Amino acid sequence: MAEDLDNLIICKKCRTLHRKIDLPAKKVARCAVCGHKLYSDVEGAFAKAVSYSITSLILFIVANLFPIIDVYVKSNHSQLTIPSMISTLFSEEFYVVGSIVLVVVVIAPLSVIFSYLALWFLTYFKLSKSLAKHIISFLMVSRSWAMVDIFAVSILVALVKLFGYAQINYGVSAIALALFVMVDLLFLKSIKPVELWTYFSRVYYER
Ligand SMILES: [Zn+2]
Repeated sequence: MAEDLDNLIICKKCRTLHRKIDLPAKKVARCAVCGHKLYSDVEGAFAKAVSYSITSLILFIVANLFPIIDVYVKSNHSQLTIPSMISTLFSEEFYVVGSIVLVVVVIAPLSVIFSYLALWFLTYFKLSKSLAKHIISFLMVSRSWAMVDIFAVSILVALVKLFGYAQINYGVSAIALALFVMVDLLFLKSIKPVELWTYFSRVYYER
């Protein structure tokens, strides 16, 4: 039943209900009654990518707010969040490891998320074509280091050994990280490079 509903779309102009079909590339589905545009394949794909990036951002924030590592030194128990772990690495002079963790765990995922959000903003208001072009080019490159978050999780696990007397806290942060990795898989599948460029040309040249 839920799947049936997903296959239906209502015309925003005249409220006629239509059954969705798979669209060929560059085609637009229009209302059979009033001709109002119902959906187009790349726009749907882009909207999906944007919603996944918002979901990723929320999970990222949650993963960073709660402790991910429990540290036990003698009878003291302290907890580290991802940001406090990174600052501990720097204050303990593990500069190389600290920088790798900062880039892989924080900067890389955030740059992809914010690129999609910026692209959404630019295309929504039809602003700066050249900036949008640069962002898409960056997103193309970023696909080659996609799944960096799985690498990030393995780094976190390895770090626990580096700290000694520590263990992973399987709490809110760990759950958020696991979901983050899963959403990222869907995120990658949600839009293909060619669709991004099709979306780009549709926004800036055809409207
Ligand atoms: Zn209509």
